[in-house]
Amino acid sequence: MAEVATLQGLYEEAKAKNLALDMTRGKPGSEQLDLTLPMLDLVTSSDYKTAAGADPRNYGGLDGIPEAKELFKEFLEVSSTDEVIVGGNSSLTLMHDTVARCMSHGTASSSTPWGKLEKVKFLCPSPGYDRHFAICEHFGIEMITVENVNNDLDIAKIEELVAADDSIKGMWVVPKYGNPTGTSVADEVVDRLAKMNTAANDFRIFWDNAYTVHHLSDDVDVIKNLFEVAKAEGNEDRVFIFGSTSKITFAGSGMAGMGGSVKNMDWMRSHLNISTIGPDKINQVRHMRFFGDFAGLQQHMVKHAELIKPKFEVVISILEEKLGGRGLASWTNPKGGYFISLDTNQGCAKRVVALAAEAGVKLTAAGATFPYKNDPRDTNIRLAPTLPSIDEIKQAMEIVCLCVELADAEKNA
Ligand code: PMP
Repeated sequence: MAEVATLQGLYEEAKAKNLALDMTRGKPGSEQLDLTLPMLDLVTSSDYKTAAGADPRNYGGLDGIPEAKELFKEFLEVSSTDEVIVGGNSSLTLMHDTVARCMSHGTASSSTPWGKLEKVKFLCPSPGYDRHFAICEHFGIEMITVENVNNDLDIAKIEELVAADDSIKGMWVVPKYGNPTGTSVADEVVDRLAKMNTAANDFRIFWDNAYTVHHLSDDVDVIKNLFEVAKAEGNEDRVFIFGSTSKITFAGSGMAGMGGSVKNMDWMRSHLNISTIGPDKINQVRHMRFFGDFAGLQQHMVKHAELIKPKFEVVISILEEKLGGRGLASWTNPKGGYFISLDTNQGCAKRVVALAAEAGVKLTAAGATFPYKNDPRDTNIRLAPTLPSIDEIKQAMEIVCLCVELADAEKNA
């Protein structure tokens, strides 16, 4: 009890500072957005054409201008531009619309609309990305939580589930520097995902490679190419790959793309043809002039890393200093991406987030990283360090750590 009282005293002192700090969402900081400002000057009223001299102002170019498709071919790691669609500004929209089309019209492998079936289920490796789960909820897709093991997919469980149940039509994966773990899938997991037997012949993996080039240093995670392995196994139609430049150029005005087999991309093009007469090609010209090519894009990411890495380092060093070796929490130490996952002892995460909010530090809601916002053990908290300044992160993390101590002490009192 004495410990709780001491910690409560410290907590009241922290509260009295009336802070207003936000570590909820993975948004780029303003210095990161500033890196891209020169892009706005690269298309002018007298100079706006594509590399081949085509006019981007009118309708058309349904799946992107050639140089943008070339860039996304490398970005999404597919082998031809026929396997690529460059869409609007948001990969989340592409994911949502892909699910919507499967629900309303079926897939390229089966004309039965998923929405006509009695039940449609998705596997949701967790902790995962809340907006993936929101898409499932929106369409009435039943989510099956598959908890990660050692911050990687529980591939044995996934294999068992998809082999036994043909109403399992899809799964979400953020394969590299995941949201929220910051960790990446192992080669063996990629192999097994590509090869596994699925009861559904129209099963799809939504491979959301949102953070594929978002390294913090030159010590990078390299993941095996799922699409290539799936192709070799004759399973290429099970893979939809997604990505965007939202965290490379402007989060609200980037370029998004998807990749997959020619059969899948032709299926998507036939649907796109109904919903649009073409994407914003002027934005694609602007982006391609800015990057030059994929190597140029990768170079640009080095500048982001210089800005973000110190922010991640502050979070990790305060966690280590305050909580290290005390049995109160564990956390990931990612080599890239936008998030750090903090796991408290069982039954503490909600309390930590509530305590932090009361002390002026907003964190992503506890539970948000699980389907139906239900973290079965109430342990996971997503930390998003990119938006606040280093000074704000320091203040916020001191409070988060204090809240972890207090919540744990309260529980054991
Ligand atoms: N996928 C993941 C895993 C993300 O973390 C995010 C952004 N938080 C997105 C997709 C959203 O991407 P976009 O801006 O391209 O819609």
